[in-house]
Amino acid sequence: MIRLPDHAACAIERLEAAGFETWAVGGCVRDSLRGAAPHDWDLCTAARPEEMQAVFAGERVLATGLKHGTLTLLTDGGPLEITTFRADGGYSDGRHPDGVRFVGHVEDDLARRDFTVGAMAWHPERSLCDPFGGQDDLQDGILRAVGDPDARFQEDALRILRAVRFASQLGFTVELETAAAMRRQAARLDCIAAERIREELTGMLCGRFAQRALMEFTDILGMVLPELVPMFGCAQQNPHHLYDVWEHSVRATGQVPAEPVLRWSMLLHDCGKPACKTVDENGVGHFYGHPKASREIAERILRRLRFSNEDSERILLLVEQHDRPLGDTDKLVRRRLSQIGEDRFRDLLAIKKGDAVGQGTHPEDVAWLYGMERCLNDVLAAESCFSLRQLAVDGNDIKALGLSGPAVGEMLHALLGAVIDGQADNTREALTALARARMEERHDE
Ligand code: ATP
Ligand code: MG
Repeated sequence: MIRLPDHAACAIERLEAAGFETWAVGGCVRDSLRGAAPHDWDLCTAARPEEMQAVFAGERVLATGLKHGTLTLLTDGGPLEITTFRADGGYSDGRHPDGVRFVGHVEDDLARRDFTVGAMAWHPERSLCDPFGGQDDLQDGILRAVGDPDARFQEDALRILRAVRFASQLGFTVELETAAAMRRQAARLDCIAAERIREELTGMLCGRFAQRALMEFTDILGMVLPELVPMFGCAQQNPHHLYDVWEHSVRATGQVPAEPVLRWSMLLHDCGKPACKTVDENGVGHFYGHPKASREIAERILRRLRFSNEDSERILLLVEQHDRPLGDTDKLVRRRLSQIGEDRFRDLLAIKKGDAVGQGTHPEDVAWLYGMERCLNDVLAAESCFSLRQLAVDGNDIKALGLSGPAVGEMLHALLGAVIDGQADNTREALTALARARMEERHDE
C-alpha cells in the first residue's frame, strides 16, 4: 500500500476524470515499497501531450519535454513530471532513442524502463502494476534488467552506470546475467556525454554502499575513468598501508561524509601514487611528490567531466593538500585558518580522517585528528583572530600612519601574522605601535 502525496493524487484524479488512465511510476514506487521517502513523484498517463495541456490549462506548467511526451506540472507540493505512455524507438547512436512512439498501455511503457525495481506503476484503486517481477526483486535486493540485458545496454549505455549507482545507493546485488552484460557492453560508455557520466559517478560515490559497489565494478569504472586504472592493484609495500592504492582510496571514499566534493577528493587523492612509486633497498614503497601528481591527473579528469570551477577548485585543493600537516597547536591552527578559512579547514580534516581510516593501520592517527578538530573548535570559540577582517585595525588606520599603495596591504598582513603568532595583542594600541615600529625599522634600513 502506497500513500500518494496530495499533489500526485490530485493530478491522477484530474487526468482520470478526463478519461485518461494515469499511474505513479518508477523511482517513487520503488522507494515507497522499500519504505524510503521518494525524492520526487513521476506519473505516466494515456493522455497525449496536447491532452495533458488541455486538462491542466491555466495551471503553471513547463512544456520543455513535450516532444518526448513529458509535461512538468508545478504544484504547491513540488514539480510533478507527467509523461505519456511511450515505447522508445531504436537507439542507433546508443544514446538517444531515434523516436518515441506513444502507446496505449501502461505495461508497454514499463517495458522501456531499465531495471525491474523501477518498472512498476502504482494506482490508488488499481494498486500495483508489476509485469516484470519488480516487487520480488525489491524484496530480494536484486537489480535486474528488464528483458534482454545486452540489448538494453546496447540501446543506452548510460544504464550500465545507472546500475552501479543503484547498487551503491540501494545496496542491491546486480543479478548475474545483468552484471555480465554490463561488462560485455561497457566499451559503449565512450559515446555517453561527459555531464551524464559525471552525474552518475557522483551519485555512485555518494551512495551508502559505495565501497562495495566501487570494488565490485572497478573494471567498469576504469572504462570511464581510465586515468585511475594504474591504481588498481598497485601495491603500497609500506607498513602504514594494509591495502593497495585503489582499495585504500575506495575505503577512504566510503569514510567521508556523502558530499560530492569530499567523496570525489577522497577517490582522487592518491591517483598520482602509481606514477611516483619507488621501492627502497629494504623493499619499502614510497610515493614522494604524489599529492602534486594526483592534482595534475585529477585536474584532467575534472575538466573532461566538466565540473564547475567552484567544485574543481575545492577538490584540487583537497587533493593537493591531503598530506600536508594541518597543525595541532592554536598558533598553527590560526595560521592555517588564515590561509584557507574555516570551511576548507573542516574539509581537510574530513579528508585526513578518511585517509587515516582507509589506511587500515594506525587508529591513533584518527584520534589525533579528533584532537585537532577540538583545537580548531577552541580557536573559533575563543574568536581568536586569524583573518584581516578580524584585525583590530584596517587599511584606513594604516594610511593614517602615512603609508599608501601596496604597502598598506603588506603592513596589514604583517600585523595579522604577528597576531596569529602571538607576538602582538589584537588591539588598536598594540597594532598601531607595532606598525609604527616596523615603519621606523624600515626607515632606518
Ligand atoms: P532516482 O530518481 O532515485 O535516481 P529513478 O529510478 O527515479 O531513480 P530517474 O532517473 O528519476 O530514476 O528515472 C525515472 C524512471 O525512468 C526510472 O525509474 C526508470 O524506470 C526510467 N528511466 C530513467 N532513465 C532511464 C534509462 N536511461 N533507461 C531506461 N529507463 C530509464
Ligand atoms: Mg526519479
